[in-house]
Amino acid sequence: MSFRAKEHLPGVWQIAGDMGVCSTLLAGEKRALLVDAAYGLSNLNDFVRTLTDRPVQLLLTHGHHDHALGAMHFPSAWLFPEDQAVYETYTGIRQRMRVAESAEANGIPFDRDRFLNTPMPETVSPPETVDLGGLTARIILCPAHTPGSAVVYVPERELLLTGDDWNPVSWCFFPEAMPVQIYRENVRALTALPFRHVLCSHREVLWERQTLVSYLDGLTDECLRAAEPSGEGANMGINTYTAHPADGQILIFDHDKASF
Ligand SMILES: [Zn+2]
Repeated sequence: MSFRAKEHLPGVWQIAGDMGVCSTLLAGEKRALLVDAAYGLSNLNDFVRTLTDRPVQLLLTHGHHDHALGAMHFPSAWLFPEDQAVYETYTGIRQRMRVAESAEANGIPFDRDRFLNTPMPETVSPPETVDLGGLTARIILCPAHTPGSAVVYVPERELLLTGDDWNPVSWCFFPEAMPVQIYRENVRALTALPFRHVLCSHREVLWERQTLVSYLDGLTDECLRAAEPSGEGANMGINTYTAHPADGQILIFDHDKASF
């Protein structure tokens, strides 16, 4: 099986797959919440069964392929309706073909026919709060990386799961991304939550609160104005700039959508 899992905090497993994206399993005494489903090249549902024997519900933080395509291995998925169009676009056949090509180029074994043809489950809007038994998941809409991005706060572990709204390399430039100033306002609002730890999607690290706070403190208007042109969005015709809000952290954003 091509997944590995690390229990960063009691009942909090970060699961990494073979294409470098992470999911998080919140394993309560009564049930479990799986946050994100990875690419779907391997069956994450089968792997999660090795970590918990409780019923598992899947939540997608947003509709991008690297988080959502793996939902094909699950009977249902929670997703904020604001990301439904993103989900349909990024789990369609064109995106699957691209992921398949990339997996083949990287020598990752997978069942090509199954990957290209398995239907996606219907999505349902998530509840505000889920009692997992000894762990609570508060599911919060935070439009930033995408219009329907979800973050999860777990009070018992003082933990925030940021999905793609924050990574050490944050992306806010896909066509569905919020303008950078709105991104900043909505991610900043999360600091009202008393979290001490942070897990993001694209690094296998349990971060401390200060890492995210430093990023947000550094993300001033001046920092955005000092951003430099970079080529990440060139193949989509997007005018991307890179800002450097804190040591070792960058934000790549769509300069044309920003208001200066
Ligand atoms: Zn994403």
